Amino acid sequence: MLSFADLPALTGGALLQAPAEAAAPVLTLLLDSRRVAQAAGTLFVALRGPHHDGHQYLPELYQQGVRLFLADRAALIPGGVAAYPGAGFVLVADALTALQTLAAAHRAAFPGLPVLAVTGSNGKTIVKEWLAQLLSPDELICRSPRSYNSQVGVPLSVWELRPAHTLGIFEAGISEPGEMPRLAAVIQPTLGLFTNLGPAHDAGFASRQQKAAEKMQLFRGVRTLFYCHDHAEVHEAAAALPATVQRLTWTRHGAAEAQVQVRVEAGADPGQTIAHVRYEQAEHPFTLPFADEPSVENALHCLAVLLWRGLPAAEVQRRLLRLQPVAMRLEMKQAIHDCYVLDDTYNNDLTGLDLALDALRRQPRRGRHTLILSDVLESGLPADELYQRVAELARRHGVQRLLAVGPEIGRHAAVLRAAVPECAFFADTAALLRWFQPDYFRHETILVKGARRFEFERVVTAFQRQIHGTVLEVNLDALVHNLNYYRARLQPGTRLMVMVKAFAYGSGSYEVASLLEFHRVDYLAVAYTDEGVQLREHGISLPIMVMNPSPDSFALLRQYHLEPEIYSFARLREYLQAAEDGPLPAIHLKLDTGMRRLGFAEDDLPELLPLLQRHAGTLRVASALTHLAGADEEQHNRFSEQQLAAFRRMTARLEAALGYPVIKHALNSPGIMRFPKAQFDMVRLGIGLYGVEAAGLAPEALQPVSTLRTTVSQLKRLPAGETVGYGRRGEAADHDRRIATLAIGYADGYDRRFSRGGGEVLIRGRRAPIIGNVCMDMCMVDVTGIADVQEGDAAVLFGAGLPLTELAARIGTIPYELLTNVSERVKRVFVAE
Ligand SMILES: *Cc1c(COP(=O)(O)O)cnc(C)c1O
Repeated sequence: MLSFADLPALTGGALLQAPAEAAAPVLTLLLDSRRVAQAAGTLFVALRGPHHDGHQYLPELYQQGVRLFLADRAALIPGGVAAYPGAGFVLVADALTALQTLAAAHRAAFPGLPVLAVTGSNGKTIVKEWLAQLLSPDELICRSPRSYNSQVGVPLSVWELRPAHTLGIFEAGISEPGEMPRLAAVIQPTLGLFTNLGPAHDAGFASRQQKAAEKMQLFRGVRTLFYCHDHAEVHEAAAALPATVQRLTWTRHGAAEAQVQVRVEAGADPGQTIAHVRYEQAEHPFTLPFADEPSVENALHCLAVLLWRGLPAAEVQRRLLRLQPVAMRLEMKQAIHDCYVLDDTYNNDLTGLDLALDALRRQPRRGRHTLILSDVLESGLPADELYQRVAELARRHGVQRLLAVGPEIGRHAAVLRAAVPECAFFADTAALLRWFQPDYFRHETILVKGARRFEFERVVTAFQRQIHGTVLEVNLDALVHNLNYYRARLQPGTRLMVMVKAFAYGSGSYEVASLLEFHRVDYLAVAYTDEGVQLREHGISLPIMVMNPSPDSFALLRQYHLEPEIYSFARLREYLQAAEDGPLPAIHLKLDTGMRRLGFAEDDLPELLPLLQRHAGTLRVASALTHLAGADEEQHNRFSEQQLAAFRRMTARLEAALGYPVIKHALNSPGIMRFPKAQFDMVRLGIGLYGVEAAGLAPEALQPVSTLRTTVSQLKRLPAGETVGYGRRGEAADHDRRIATLAIGYADGYDRRFSRGGGEVLIRGRRAPIIGNVCMDMCMVDVTGIADVQEGDAAVLFGAGLPLTELAARIGTIPYELLTNVSERVKRVFVAE
């Protein structure tokens, strides 16, 4: 184990200050200041990126007990090292390089350990996860959590290696030249697998060949490299490897050099494929439990590795049939009795548990946090130490109830009981399900995390029994992508207010708000006081602006510290009156520069300014804002510029009268795209966060956040001449048709204007038009052209492949309306990697 005293020599850095405990061991590497699990033994590495600087969080970390730090800019350490008595600081030239050096040194401490590195454009994570599933009966495997394959993710993954592990499997991903040798130095692989080469990250490279050659650098030191001979670019790039690298290749096209010859055909069951495989003179048919091409290719990669290891064919077959699709993300599902279930059966090691508990802790919902956990099988730690650490994680992350399943975890009940207020232990999953009663769970957030063999999907199903098939899926990763897209457009120092009015444009207010708080936006805004109160009740502590607070809610503003927008003399006088009963939060002054909706006009200033001056002792103005009437359209540019000029004049007079500066803000999402010079001190991001680029300048830049989907309730054959639905508005046709009835209607927010061909839905990736009128809870679509539709299939009403902008245009409205109309009876499901 490395100690802090080793760091200067290892990284070529300078010891700025020695820690109180000079030989302190470095147990954990921490990069994200929000994720302190166990302060003792944690080394915080202050990385800097385009949007953040780790140095900034040093005081906060010190307060939480972290004492070991690695930094690369002494001048950026807030207060200088003297402000952190007892803490150790090493100053290096570049923190990322130092992080990689530490991980490489840790890896080098296991010289005899076989380590398989996986790279390629697609399938890395799945191949890694499947190999781990397939080899876990024989090996104790340390593998990358999720898709931790970057310059930062790889060192963190490798850091998890322990003496008990018998195999490492790590994935490596790159986006530009020069990155792979750095990852190779950290992983030091002895075996390699190259999945394939596709267009991902082409932009970062001069050519496909250059990309293939760069990726191949990972494998210069391996003994054996696995790949598919049929991928010509991969095969060519492999020719440049040293002669010490043995190749084990497979082919479906009969390439003579390939050691593994494969011929595939469809299986008897539509979900299966038969692979006839010849290897070392023996030929066997293997059934793969998949039919889609990417899964078949990924499975064949794995099959090649199993054959090379010399596993008997019958055993290979047995293991292949148990392969399960890999859930690539952590899903938060709405469940019985206002509970949420975080479904994470992705990984069953300590890092995975830490990540999932962190996600649990970030749920600001009121009510208890429950963890349902099975035996942890893949940690490589001795059981006593393992469950000690599980207990510590549960305590640090504030788990209030633990339902533990399995013989091993049951033997460590004592340490867990000491860490978690309420614990119950079950011998197996069946015992948990026998005990399960919906009434035991109310208003709580439940993390379900179990090793595969415990089949916790049955537990998740139990929680969801009463949820019907229509959901709005909100992709939190897409939301963060969009947030960062707009952030990258802001001048340094410009603050960001995010509009979460109208249930966060239909996406679920506190889930979105809590994510925004985690990503450190500066302000939130809602339309009404009760929306703000709800956010506070769910634990949101960011400043919140309320755009239209009614006078009878002023007491709530005080109680919940919500800042009102004040737009008229009447409101201002009422607010000043209420302030006589005790201080009230600062206000935001709405200035009307041309929208002609709410706000003080320029000729109101002679009356407004003295009034504000008279009450300067009791009333503070936090900001002044205006709203552009035509920010999204070029034809209104001149008008927008006039509005901005008026705003400049008005705020100059306001600040002169107040004698202090206020935050000035004017731009909404399209405004951020079209008026980069008018950002003032803050911008107000709305629809763009939710995936719609309303200015139309960069339609591809954002990712769709919301997917509205339902299921096919029934399929019917409709003979020529028959009509469909109310008023027989689905008119007769001269040919036979197939129609599908979907479980969604206008009461769910599916607009009635989509009736009679106005709208289309996606089923099995194909478009089907609405037929007849949209009903209250149902609608019908024509699926004549989609041969393989089945009852129970998913139908997408909007989302990827069916953009909101297109649908809105079809019925003469705007994406805002489609998003905010989705009724609250539609369950929200939040997904994230
Ligand atoms: C809703 C709203 C915004 C956000 O507008 P988008 O077009 O959704 O970005 C900004 N400012 C005010 C005053 C708003 O009401």
